[in-house]
Order: sequence, then C-alpha cells, then structure tokens
Amino acid sequence: MNRLFLSPPHMSGKEQKYIAEVFTSNYIAPLGAFVNKFEDSIKSYTGSSNALALSSATAGLHLALRILGIGKNDIVLASTFTFIGSVSAILYQNATPVFIDSDESWNLSPSLLKKAIAELPQKPKALILTHLYGQVSKLDEIVAICKEEGIYLIEDAAESLGASYKGKQSGTFGDMGVYSFNGNKILTTSGGGMLVSENEEWIEKAKFLSTQAKENFLHYEHKEYGYNYRMSNVLAAIGVAQMEVLDERVQRKREIFEFYKQELGNIEEISFMSEVENTYGNRWLTTLVFKKTNPLKVIKALENINAESRPLWKPMHMQPLFKDCEAFIDGRSESLFNQGICLPSPTSSSNQELMRVVEVIKEVCQ
Ligand SMILES: *Cc1c(COP(=O)(O)O)cnc(C)c1O
Repeated sequence: MNRLFLSPPHMSGKEQKYIAEVFTSNYIAPLGAFVNKFEDSIKSYTGSSNALALSSATAGLHLALRILGIGKNDIVLASTFTFIGSVSAILYQNATPVFIDSDESWNLSPSLLKKAIAELPQKPKALILTHLYGQVSKLDEIVAICKEEGIYLIEDAAESLGASYKGKQSGTFGDMGVYSFNGNKILTTSGGGMLVSENEEWIEKAKFLSTQAKENFLHYEHKEYGYNYRMSNVLAAIGVAQMEVLDERVQRKREIFEFYKQELGNIEEISFMSEVENTYGNRWLTTLVFKKTNPLKVIKALENINAESRPLWKPMHMQPLFKDCEAFIDGRSESLFNQGICLPSPTSSSNQELMRVVEVIKEVCQ
C-alpha cells in the first residue's frame, strides 16, 4: 500500500511550466520575475501591503526580530505549544524567550499572556504568536493586549496560510507575519518563506539584510552584517503555481477534517482541535486527543498500515534546550502533547484512502 503521509507536497500541474519559463529566461538565480510575482500573489491573497520571499519562515522570524531591534537582555514572549522554528531566532538574537501556555483553543492563552506581562520584572519587547495546525488564535484579545502594552506582535502563520479571522487573513494582524513553504506545509516551494508587514520601511530593510546588507555602491561596501536569506527565482516559480490552488487546498483540508470528525466524532474519548469563534482555519493537519488511549499505541498501529502520524508538538518549555527558561504554564499544552496525535491529512488523498486510518483508530480505541 502507498504510504499515507501527514501532509506531502501536492503540485497543481503548472509548476513545471513556470520553471521552464525560468530556464528559458536564464534567470535561474538569484532573483527574477517569479520572485516578484510570488510576492504579488501573497500580497493580493492576504491583503498585506508588503511581502518579501525568503529561504524559510525561520529566516523571516529572524529578520523580524533583527529589524525590531531585539537583542541581548530583551524578553520575547512566545507560544510554548509550537514548533522550534517559531522560536530559534530568539536565540540567534541572544534574546530571552519566555513561554506562554495554550487555552482551550490550543493556541496562546490571552489570560496567561496578561499574567506574564504583569509578573515579569521587565517589559517584553515582542510576542511571537503561533496559529497552530492552521487554526487562528484569539486575535482580537491578543492584538489589544499587545497594543495596550506596547509589545510588538509577530505572527507565526507558517501553518496557517489561507486561514482567516473575521474575514482578514492570519499573518496580517501583527506588526509582521511569516508564512512557510516548507515541504509539509499546505503549499510548498520545496522550502521557502514569506515575511509580510504593513510597514514598507521594515520590509525594505529586511530585503537589504536578506541579501548580505550590500550598501548602494558599485563595489561591495558593508556597514552592517546581513544574511543570505532570499528565495531563488526557481522556487518562486513553484510558489506562483501553488498559490493558484490555495483555495482548493484549504477546502480539501477542511473536508478531510470533516470526514475524520464524522467518522470518529462519536467515539466518546476523542475530541478534535476546535475553531475559535469568527475564524476560518485551513485545517493543515487534522489533530485530535484521546482521553484514555495511549496515542503511541495508535501511532504504532497506523505505522503497521503504512500511514504516518505523530504526537502533537512537544511544548517548548518541556524541551531540554529551554529547561532554564521562564514559562507561564497551566498544564494545557503538556496534556495535549501527552494525549494527542496528528493524522494523515494529504489533500491529494481520497476519503476512501483515509478510511484505512479511521478503521485502525476505531479498532485501537475499542
Ligand atoms: C514549519 C514551521 C516553521 C518553520 O518554517 P520553515 O519555513 O521551515 O523555516 C515555523 N513555525 C511553525 C509553527 C512551523 O510549523
């Protein structure tokens, strides 16, 4: 049987045509027309005024922190229930991460955010907010807290491209936002990211830093150091083709969620990640938690039918790397990690294929 992956690449069919155009023009690298086209398509889809195509979302978060002037002795708040790529840039900048737990939405808890701000001896400079598994956070509350406290909001929308809150796209609520086009995301360029912001100056500065901070001279002149973080024109061509099918992909991801929910929702011990009021998630991965069944048992049984599944993200405050970091925790993400799994959610699969997964879960939960 073919392996059922969590979220494998799903090409539209146009990618190779656009790549051929890149080769014909010989703008293989470094930049070229498709980089601009890809940025334009992100701008028009998300409504963001400025976008910068990069080698990864991690690079985007790094540039965001650098541009906001975050460095040594600064505190950066972050969702604890997330992937390492959300927060490693805090360490690149020698700043101090402080982690905040989830609430019933599985995303960052606004009340723990308030508590952290009130109790920390020093005002945090920024918050990196993850919209986990494509489900949007409680943005009204979180944006209001950040505004009131004068804390920069950086949205990690790596998993939530195409998800919205009150009709506005995730990634466009904060001072800056990032999307990822890594291999397993809802769209992929094989690897890549995008930084967006309403602040044109910041995006111009990010562009400068992402291309080795070359001053405007004929020779190479440097006043500060930069990075090699820009996206290649070849990969941007893949991105342009992928953006054309984003709505279809979101729709199929949501159908997959509905299918699993319909098939498994009546098992008493199973509950799914919910959707916050007024949001429209992209359901990047269908995720659920068991009340009593050990998720590792389910993962093993799924492996036996050649289906990939995984535990939910291990919270950052539980990682050895961050064992000495401060965290505002009430146990929510820890129990989600202990009891939850991600299910195969490939947009290219049929419900019939996914039925194999359903049957295994039913059997294990009996
Ligand atoms: C994938 C992911 C990232 C990192 O994205 P890259 O493009 O691989 O750097 C960051 N945060 C979250 C929540 C992710 O899922």
